[in-house]
Amino acid sequence: MSPLKALGGTSDILPDEADRWQKMEETARRVLKLHGFREIRTPLFEESAVFTSSLGEAAEIVTKQMYLFEDRGGRKVALRPEGTASVVRAFIEHGLDKSGGLTRFYYMGPMFRAERPQAGRRRQFHQLGVEVFGSASPYQDAEVLLLLVRLLKGWDVRGWVLKLNSLGCRQDREAIIEQVRAKLSPHRQKLCEDCQVRFEKNPLRILDCKESRCQELSFGIDVSTAVCGACRDHFEKVSRTLGRLKIPFEKDPHMVRGLDYYTRTAFEVIHGGLGAQNALGGGGRYDDLVELMGGSPVPAVGFAVGLERVLMAQETSSGAAQGAVADRAAAVFVSTAGSDITDGLQWVELLREKGIPAVANLEERPLKRQLEQADKWGFQWVVIRGEMEREKGVFVVKNMASRSQEEIPEKMWLNVLQKRLNRS
Ligand code: AMP
Repeated sequence: MSPLKALGGTSDILPDEADRWQKMEETARRVLKLHGFREIRTPLFEESAVFTSSLGEAAEIVTKQMYLFEDRGGRKVALRPEGTASVVRAFIEHGLDKSGGLTRFYYMGPMFRAERPQAGRRRQFHQLGVEVFGSASPYQDAEVLLLLVRLLKGWDVRGWVLKLNSLGCRQDREAIIEQVRAKLSPHRQKLCEDCQVRFEKNPLRILDCKESRCQELSFGIDVSTAVCGACRDHFEKVSRTLGRLKIPFEKDPHMVRGLDYYTRTAFEVIHGGLGAQNALGGGGRYDDLVELMGGSPVPAVGFAVGLERVLMAQETSSGAAQGAVADRAAAVFVSTAGSDITDGLQWVELLREKGIPAVANLEERPLKRQLEQADKWGFQWVVIRGEMEREKGVFVVKNMASRSQEEIPEKMWLNVLQKRLNRS
């Protein structure tokens, strides 16, 4: 049998890379806590109606990208393609829409979309998302963007560009769609095949098309001119506040988000180092979604960031990749050539009780081989206790980086090693 492989568009995260993921996640959790966000974990699969009712039947995520299946009870189920719909479903299900006040959630985890895989575009990928429920204030939009920027800083991602637009309220949507249709109608036949369909079903998405002919045809369309006075005022306040907070942004009247539920503020962060799939994250306001999904009318704003893409963007910054190696080097390998392996297991337990990550040799093999292995695995410290050391009543502590080693009387080895580790 030929060896099995992971499906296209999915990948294994091996330990070196997992170290970088953990660092990224730890930074995120620290920053989110500082901003008063708490974690929500929703299931990875839901009744498909959770997504079809919220994202819009015409959204490409729904029509082309959802992993849909019937479970054994004949229910229509989907792997979650994004986080907001599930969070809103949970928000309503647990009666939080009735509680008033402000709710700040974040989530982190895998999403699934049946897209054509390419660099930065996976079928299973990870997002960090935040949702704030209960405020319609433009200052809330600005505060959410402040959080996004702080996350990017915490991750050491530089060179990003924040794009901002207003998509108007529910009442404006028809006028905006009409404006787009009126401008494109004479050129309809020249649009790409997908956009011909979008023209009927979801014309705003034409502004988002990557095909150059569609971009040329839609050039100059400004959706923000069709929004009402109140929405324009909201947008002005968001822009002014970002200016005061020194968050650089570009107004982009062409930027529409892929999903139907956005209202008023919409934004996207792009990064030049990501290639064709250049969006690091995006989000905006969705003031009608909670009501649309059967809850009370509660305004909301949020965003999602693609974590694979954060790592890709980090690679263009120095130092990001070195962190993982430094992490690994903190651990201790306990070598037991010529003495009892069970003793080794007891010694690593002593180290672990002191909070020192440690691994014991478990194989009957010569010291030389054990040291080679410890080197390969990247341990910085090795504790050696062979026959000779036992006779002398010592432990040898070896620094693998400098190759220096010292003999320590057996009563003191734990304390001395701890001191050396604190200094390294
Ligand atoms: P969206 O929910 O489409 O606005 O996506 C938010 C962010 O998730 C994007 O800006 C990307 O960083 C990331 N993302 C979306 N789709 C994919 C994918 N198929 N593979 C990797 N990252 C993705």
